[in-house]
Amino acid sequence: MIDIVLVGGGHAHLFVLEAFARAPLEGVRLTLIAKEAFAPYSGMLPGRVSGQYPLDAGEIDLRRLAAKAGARFLHAPASAIDRTHRRILIDGHSPVSYDLLSLDVGIVPDVASIAGAATNALVVKPISTFRERLEGLLADIGEGRCRNLAVVGGGPAGFELAHALRRRTKAPAGEDSGQASVSLIAGGELLSGLPERGRQLARRSLERSKIALVESARVVRIDPDTVILDDGRSLPADAALVATAAAAPPILERSGLACDRRGFVRLRETLQAEDDDRIFAAGDCGSLIGQERPKAGVFAVRQGPVLAENLRRAALGRPLVRYQAQQAYLMLLALSNGEAIAARGRLALQSHLAFRLKDRIDRGFVARFGGG
Ligand SMILES: Cc1cc2nc3c(=O)[nH]c(=O)nc-3n(C[C@H](O)[C@H](O)[C@H](O)COP(=O)(O)OP(=O)(O)OC[C@H]3O[C@@H](n4cnc5c(N)ncnc54)[C@H](O)[C@@H]3O)c2cc1C
Repeated sequence: MIDIVLVGGGHAHLFVLEAFARAPLEGVRLTLIAKEAFAPYSGMLPGRVSGQYPLDAGEIDLRRLAAKAGARFLHAPASAIDRTHRRILIDGHSPVSYDLLSLDVGIVPDVASIAGAATNALVVKPISTFRERLEGLLADIGEGRCRNLAVVGGGPAGFELAHALRRRTKAPAGEDSGQASVSLIAGGELLSGLPERGRQLARRSLERSKIALVESARVVRIDPDTVILDDGRSLPADAALVATAAAAPPILERSGLACDRRGFVRLRETLQAEDDDRIFAAGDCGSLIGQERPKAGVFAVRQGPVLAENLRRAALGRPLVRYQAQQAYLMLLALSNGEAIAARGRLALQSHLAFRLKDRIDRGFVARFGGG
């Protein structure tokens, strides 16, 4: 019996479970160890904040997917990888042995440089625990307790969340005066990964939605009602959402696997760890040697089928296929007015059609894996 163990219920592992459900492999036992029983689809998260989707939309039931794939499901956090004895140590559970191991554990929040963030802000990543924290914020907004909202982080997640909060708090037409204020603090340049045209559209969209943009100033402290910037300025904020860059889960570095300077596992094109043929990884927790890309779900999704194929091939002792990360990819950023900015390579446009396309892609992904 060959033991394939999947750690983490990230986007790439959904494809592995799907592939094994479609074509089980004789002589292989599949196990999924996941800290959370439901995998939230990140693309729909801003829509859950804005009210476009119900609060529990886009949650994929990992237990059900595992059952379909004939996999054991362990709902627990893996605490360490014992590579000498080829087993996973799990909090509150006996160790699980592996012949082949795959890691899709995402990222952990990194708010060490922002004093007070852990206690006074809603830290967006990891998104698997975001829902319960979001419920409180939405209740406060609904009951008018949040007049000033701040989003920290000028990447796609922060940008979309600022628009989502604007949509959620929009005053009825013609009643702008009572509307909550929303600020977006970008740290560096807003959406630095977008082409110039995309950034122009993004800045204009913020202006039109009355979202105050602060660029080139970093948040150093978050108090219960104020956000303090490194240039001494302060902004009123009854609630702050933090969507800044995140860090590697400590389990990776503790494993002794070769990692990049930020602690993400260095991967070959086969999605195998640089220094261990038995260990694969995908999604945000991996760093593809020579093909480094931004941490985005789109890469985890593209790696999923390759990972599934290679785990199968490795179990059968067949040569592995190579993953080639695409240079350009379509980015769709939802705005508060029912439009979206679509950007790919050097091109960018803004339209209602792009919003509908994003909605279709996101709903299609979730439906594929049985989510609602
Ligand atoms: C608001 C927001 C919007 C976004 N929108 C987009 C978008 O539109 N398009 C896009 O491409 N990207 C988007 N992203 C980025 C996207 O969320 C991530 O890149 C993507 O989720 C990474 O997927 P993953 O498979 O690496 O892991 P994840 O989806 O992060 O999943 C990792 C899973 O592993 C589990 N886990 C972690 N540690 C352990 C452990 N020790 N043991 C067991 N289980 C563990 C976690 O609980 C989690 O469920 C967005 C991010 C945010 C915050």
